[in-house]
Amino acid sequence: MEGTRRGFLRYCLLSILPYFIHTDRAVFALSEKNRSVKGKEDKAKEFEPSYLKLHRSGELKKRGERLWESMGSCNLCPRGCGVNRLKGEKGFCNANSQLMVSAFHPHFGEEKPITGWNGSGTIFFTHCNLRCVYCINWEINHEGRGEVVTIEQLAEMMLGLQKIGCHNINLVTPTHYSPHILLAADMAAAKGLRLPLLYNSSGWEKLDVLKILDGVVDIYLPDFKYSNGKMASKYSSGADTYPGITKIAISEMHRQVGVARLEKDGLIKKGLIIRHLVLPNNVSGTREVLHWIANNLPKDTYVNLMSQYTPQYKAFQYHEISRKITRKEYNDAIKWAREFGLINLDIQGYYFI
Ligand code: SF4
Repeated sequence: MEGTRRGFLRYCLLSILPYFIHTDRAVFALSEKNRSVKGKEDKAKEFEPSYLKLHRSGELKKRGERLWESMGSCNLCPRGCGVNRLKGEKGFCNANSQLMVSAFHPHFGEEKPITGWNGSGTIFFTHCNLRCVYCINWEINHEGRGEVVTIEQLAEMMLGLQKIGCHNINLVTPTHYSPHILLAADMAAAKGLRLPLLYNSSGWEKLDVLKILDGVVDIYLPDFKYSNGKMASKYSSGADTYPGITKIAISEMHRQVGVARLEKDGLIKKGLIIRHLVLPNNVSGTREVLHWIANNLPKDTYVNLMSQYTPQYKAFQYHEISRKITRKEYNDAIKWAREFGLINLDIQGYYFI
């Protein structure tokens, strides 16, 4: 197993080497434009992530241990399986207590204020508790592609991403591994981690677990996928509670970190960013999703209206989601968002049929 782990880490390190080159190129290109990357990096050093305070007091480790114990009868997400992951049992998400990571590297395709000029330091966790039929990462989330790694190795990944200049630690599909993440963040903080922690989730999160993450997470990046429980159930493995639970979760995320605001260097280091993927034939209930956001959160809440839906995995088995969206469907989404008064929209213009 150790050999496999070493091989995986070697593979990951080799896979991030090109980004050193990319980073150099990016820095060069920016300096060509007379933009002060150094100045931005100096600004970045001034930032203090919220988890540092909890680390210094010992609270971060305590919270990680509390979450760890809860895997004994796992109730970390709304599935509430009650299995004993500490004894190797697996619930709906297919994760026991062994941490599995599929990949880690700088990501240049996230929202601009978190991608910045050096990329978002993305860590893709294996398995998922939602498992949508149109999942673009189905090999990782449905089929379990990834390698077992230790919590110490997760901490080293975080530090490695910081070392190559990433602007945040972007934890993708983190829910079922929240205990491991807190314990790793505590170890990494002791060794100098200073990047914001970004919790990149489906939005279907339990309120009591989110309260444990209060003061740990700097940026919440939840999806708000559906306004209709029947659609959530049909396309996301029976998760008919998705709309109600996600509304509560997003409200709590906003309470903790507030509206995402650009810093002077053009990055977001704290706040809530909501992603809404517009699905064809109104499967996502876009109008109701936007109406809820506009009526329950500040009008300048950052909302990324995503147009890039492409049928993947099992989506072709369902007629209504077996195509991309039309320009009209996306334009309607923009129109509704504006009608409801949302003023901080991330709007795209590609991928239409
Ligand atoms: S994290 Fe996994 S095992 Fe735990 S409740 Fe959710 S799906 Fe079940």
